[in-house]
Amino acid sequence: MIYDAIAIGAGLSGCSAAIQLAKRGYRVLLLEQSHYPMHKLCGEFLSVEVTEAFENLGILEQVRKVGAHPIHRAYLTTASGASFRSDLPSAALGLSRYQLDLTLFQRSQALNVDCQDNTKVMGVAGNLQEGFTVNTSKGEFQGRVVLGAFGKRSPLDRTLNRKFIQQRSPWIAYKGHFTGVDIADVIELHSFPNGYCGLSQIETGEINVCWIAHERVMKEPTHKGLDIPESLAQNPALADRFHNMKRVSTSLQGLSQITFALKGNFHNDICMIGDTAGMITPLCGDGMAMALRSAEIAVPFVSQFLEHQLSAIAFKKQYAIAWQREFQTRLQLGRIMHNCFVQPPLANMGVNLCQLFPALGNWIIGATRGKPQQSNRTDQTQLFDSII
Ligand SMILES: Cc1cc2nc3c(=O)[nH]c(=O)nc-3n(C[C@H](O)[C@H](O)[C@H](O)COP(=O)(O)OP(=O)(O)OC[C@H]3O[C@@H](n4cnc5c(N)ncnc54)[C@H](O)[C@@H]3O)c2cc1C
Repeated sequence: MIYDAIAIGAGLSGCSAAIQLAKRGYRVLLLEQSHYPMHKLCGEFLSVEVTEAFENLGILEQVRKVGAHPIHRAYLTTASGASFRSDLPSAALGLSRYQLDLTLFQRSQALNVDCQDNTKVMGVAGNLQEGFTVNTSKGEFQGRVVLGAFGKRSPLDRTLNRKFIQQRSPWIAYKGHFTGVDIADVIELHSFPNGYCGLSQIETGEINVCWIAHERVMKEPTHKGLDIPESLAQNPALADRFHNMKRVSTSLQGLSQITFALKGNFHNDICMIGDTAGMITPLCGDGMAMALRSAEIAVPFVSQFLEHQLSAIAFKKQYAIAWQREFQTRLQLGRIMHNCFVQPPLANMGVNLCQLFPALGNWIIGATRGKPQQSNRTDQTQLFDSII
C-alpha cells in the first residue's frame, strides 16, 4: 500500500499533521520510535495559542477532562536576587507531555491514522516526484509525501546528514516531576549562571522542574541528592524551592546538544515540521504552540501537492516562505532572550528593567508568540477559559 503521507515522529507536530491530513481523507502512517504513554523532556507550559489548535484537532474536551492546570502569573528571578512578577496577558496551562502526547496519539488512532509506535525510522529514500520508501525497525513503507517530525535531535538527523548536526551545541537540559512546594497558578523562571530553570504545576498537582544550562554546569557536584548541579542553588529563590522539594520521577530525563539553529524546511524532499525545522528557546515557553502551528502551515501545501495543484518545487518554496514569515523573527528574539538570561549581569539588567517598565516585559512575552488564526483574541481567551 502507498500512503499519501508518512509522518516520522508522533510528538505534537507529527500527530497534528497526521490528524489534519486524516480529516481531509488521506491515508496517513504515523511512525514513532517509543511506546506510548511516555514522559518527555519539556517545561510542560502551554501558552494560549494552543487552544485553537486543540479545538481544531478535536482534543480540547479531553484536555479539559484530564484537568490541565491553569497558570495566570509569571515570576522571574536572578541569582543576585532581582525579581519581576507579572500577570500573563492570557491564561496558560500546565499539562504533562505524558498526558498531552498520549491524547494526540489516541486522537490520531481514532481518525484511522495507521499509528505504529515502537517503530524506529532508520532511513528515507526517494523524492517528491517518484515517492518515498521509509525504512524502519519493522520493515519498509511507501508514501507520496514524508513529514519529518522527529523532534529536537534524532539519530535520523545524522543518517540524513543534516548540516546542523555537524555543529556542536553546548546546551543540555533536564526535567523531572517534584512535590513539596505550592506554586499555585505561577510559572516561575529562575536564572542562574549559565542557565535557567522553569517550575510550573501540571494536571497531577506535581511540579514540573525543567532546566537548561551550558554543559559545564553539569560537571559540577549535585545538590543534596536531588541530582541538581550546584549552580542552580546560586539563585536564592530556586535554592529555597529545592530545599522543600521531593522528586517523584524515578530519574531525571536529560538531553544534550540542544540547538536553536534554523535547520531547514526541507531535506532530501522531506518536509520538516516542529522542532525538526527549528526550535524556539525554552525561555519563551512557546515551542509546543509552534510545533502545532508548523503542522497547520504545512498541511494545506501537502494537500495541494497530493491533489496535483502544486508542483514539488512550488510546494517546497511556498512552505518555506510561509514558515519563515511566521517564525523567523520569533526564533531570533528567543535566542537573544536566552543569551541574556543565562548571563547573570544581563539577566539582572533585564529583570530590573522589566520591574521598572512592566510594559517591556509584557511586550517581550507578546512578541515571542503567535497570533490567533481564525478567531479573534477574545474568542480564543474564551475558548481557553472554557478549559479551566
Ligand atoms: C528544556 C526544554 C524545555 C521546553 N519547555 C517548553 C515549554 O514549557 N513549553 C513549550 O511550549 N515548549 C517547550 N519546549 C519546546 C517543546 O518541547 C518542543 O518545541 C516540542 O516538543 C516540539 O514538538 P515536536 O513534535 O517537534 O517534537 P517532539 O515532541 O520531540 O516529538 C518528536 C517525536 O519523534 C520521535 N522520533 C525521533 N526520532 C525518531 C525516529 N528515528 N523514528 C521514529 N520516531 C522518532 C520521538 O520519539 C518523539 O516522540 C521545551 C524544550 C526544551 C528543550
